[in-house]
Amino acid sequence: MHAVSCRLVPRAADPGSAAPSIAVPQTVEALEIPVNRGVAECLIWGNPPAWYEVVIGSLGPGDGAEEVHLQWEPLAAQPHPRSRQSADDVPGTLGQPLAKWRRVTPPAGGVFPPPKLGSGPGENDVSGTLGRGESAAVHRREFQFPVWKTSVRGAGEWQDRRIVARLMAAHPRARVYVDLQDAEGRVSWREAETIASRLAEVALPVVDGWLGPITDVDGDGSLSVLVTSAVEQLPQGRDPLRAFVRSSDLAAGPQSGARSPNGPLDIIYLNANRLGDSGLDGILAHEATHLAVFCRRREAGLPLRAEEWIDEGLAHAVEWLGTGESGNLERRWAAFDAAPHAAALEVNRGAGNPAWRRAECRGATARFFTHLIQQQGVRSLPRIATATTTGRDALAEATGQPFADLFREWTMSERITWRDPESIPEPSEPGQQSWTLSGTAALGFALGHLPADRCYRLRLTGPAAAGLQMTLVRHVGHSLPQPIPPTEAGLTTLGRSLR
Ligand SMILES: [Zn+2]
Repeated sequence: MHAVSCRLVPRAADPGSAAPSIAVPQTVEALEIPVNRGVAECLIWGNPPAWYEVVIGSLGPGDGAEEVHLQWEPLAAQPHPRSRQSADDVPGTLGQPLAKWRRVTPPAGGVFPPPKLGSGPGENDVSGTLGRGESAAVHRREFQFPVWKTSVRGAGEWQDRRIVARLMAAHPRARVYVDLQDAEGRVSWREAETIASRLAEVALPVVDGWLGPITDVDGDGSLSVLVTSAVEQLPQGRDPLRAFVRSSDLAAGPQSGARSPNGPLDIIYLNANRLGDSGLDGILAHEATHLAVFCRRREAGLPLRAEEWIDEGLAHAVEWLGTGESGNLERRWAAFDAAPHAAALEVNRGAGNPAWRRAECRGATARFFTHLIQQQGVRSLPRIATATTTGRDALAEATGQPFADLFREWTMSERITWRDPESIPEPSEPGQQSWTLSGTAALGFALGHLPADRCYRLRLTGPAAAGLQMTLVRHVGHSLPQPIPPTEAGLTTLGRSLR
């Protein structure tokens, strides 16, 4: 057993003897509590006005189930160590300092500005140049579209189905073809034009700037989009499938062994029934990111990797940081926020793994890679895309930091950046709590404000194989939750809001 006592001493700015309200910027500090063979323990002394929470993470493999238990209880009589230790040291039971609080710097807030946008033609009416009349036949093109055929015995296989499409918008860098089945009535010329211009003017500049250009494998000078409602017939997760790309389209060619009846072709498939949904820029940036990652790996002579959590995470991060659109992400973020302990970060498709498209897992990987790119900068994107190792090792290779450190930083950042910074969670009652962490997942548990000079014990237990992490987080700079003297009639809110 290894017990660690954490002494929390007043900071220089501690307003303990001053007015009951303070309005200083909040600072967040973290203290790593060592976990030995699945057990971690520490003592905390109340230190108003700081308030506390504990972040518990698991580095268990895949989306496994790791049972963890947290005991949180007041201790009756425990001598306060203030008199015998220097400030901010964290003594262990044997008296030697183990660690110090360190300041947590939140990542730069907000959205990255997209790279300089091109000055495309914007509202130009391509319908005139493409021709609705006799020349339409010239702009027809056939595509082979994947269909999933389920056999009577429940197995299935991919087959191809011919789709004839009409070119309905053409920019120098983007062409939009619409399935003839959808071109009458379902998809308008204006919608096709919007897709072409948003791809050429928003999504492609972001992806060019951050990951490098998508190879023009078919030599037509532009990235193609096929808009078809046939996307609806593909196997769907709980989230409707709005768009997809296939690496096999890019790879196909006389010199490659890959089989694609289309190829080589640089193309995004877009669901014709979902054009009215919000977040078109984000969707286009997402799919273009996948294509750029495929291209960078091919150029580097690397195999395409079957690691959704990395490639989807990168695509979601570019989608959000590059366009600021959240239409494709909000449901996934919400699912993650509702149950972060059940949202495994590291999830791959694998045979029969139902987690790989679950909204909360997508939310986790979207948030993790957004944090990572904010911390490491967009130059890390090509490095992650072309890592020669796989999985966690790929991230360590690309960032120069152990995955365990990246994971801990992210889980702490979640506690300070993705919620209302003014809000102090309700303190949790002492007692025992248990959770099941899904593989690489984490949760935050609010201890709230602790009364001065009361001592509490925190004890975490779980399976050693879960690779548990425990981090104590101290928030300083909020007002005390104590009533304001009733000198100002009717004002009973806390000090912070009165200043
Ligand atoms: Zn994707």
